[in-house]
Amino acid sequence: MAPRIVVAGSANMDLVGVAERLPLPGETVLGDDFLMMAGGKGANQAIAAARAGGDAVFLGAIGSDSFGVTLNARLAAAGVDTAHVRTTYGASGVAVIMVDRAAENSILVAPGANSTFRDLTEAEEGVIASGDVLLCQLEIPIETVTAACRAARAAGTRTILNAAPARELPADLLANVDLLVVNEVEAQTITGSAAPDMAALLALVPRVVMTLGGAGSRYAERDGRDEQVPAFPVEATDTTAAGDAFTAALAVAWGEGRDLMEAVRWANAAGAACVRKLGASSSVPTRAEIDELYN
Ligand code: ADP
Repeated sequence: MAPRIVVAGSANMDLVGVAERLPLPGETVLGDDFLMMAGGKGANQAIAAARAGGDAVFLGAIGSDSFGVTLNARLAAAGVDTAHVRTTYGASGVAVIMVDRAAENSILVAPGANSTFRDLTEAEEGVIASGDVLLCQLEIPIETVTAACRAARAAGTRTILNAAPARELPADLLANVDLLVVNEVEAQTITGSAAPDMAALLALVPRVVMTLGGAGSRYAERDGRDEQVPAFPVEATDTTAAGDAFTAALAVAWGEGRDLMEAVRWANAAGAACVRKLGASSSVPTRAEIDELYN
């Protein structure tokens, strides 16, 4: 049976404008392309978990505007259970993204409804308790992430924290994190060190996966294994969403009861399958695409 992956996190409408070059402050530039995509790390990872074969549930807040309707529809179309998504009066989270021909970008995120996702209801805690794995990121209020991980721990649901965007992490959150997923820059921010320091991370949580881009990833556990897991060699076209595809696949594989080293290797295949395709959510691999690289 597909593992139940509960993602508690953000959902944004990504408004992407493409132009020859990015406008300077105060300047208007005529663009030549525009597209709208579901985004936000929470929604991205919920969609990626569903594509990777998980029974994915999304917990979060969207606005009462038309973006909210679209976000709900895109999550549902990807096979994500949206029955418990909150609709709060006001604007949905929006990311205004400008991209130039050289793929350089400027991004402004207006969190909108995401910042109203507070005080988990009994029903939401029940959904978390029904999960095999709870997956959180840091684009919603940290108190909500903390409460979600606490509810998961109390129910025996395993917790994965993808600490992005990185910040210092409170002790009452760390106490209920089973597995931390970070890239090298996030690792530095969390531990306040000048280089990624695995020992410092393992002092905070029992298991850590550090993603290393084209070099793959590294899995380490407290008083246990510490191994680098090589990347699958692919031609990288676009690294957008690779981290989300990786983290979601890791949650699915761990939820299936696979050994974490094997889960990390499978997640590497998901990341690699993602970077060889152009586009954000459209490049998130299906289970078949992950398996094809993995096998
Ligand atoms: P983030 O986007 O969060 O910084 P990374 O860039 O580290 O995340 O990518 C996440 C994962 O995707 C990596 O751990 C790796 O498995 C895979 N990946 C990323 N870039 C490449 C690449 N060029 N070739 C193969 N795999 C890659």
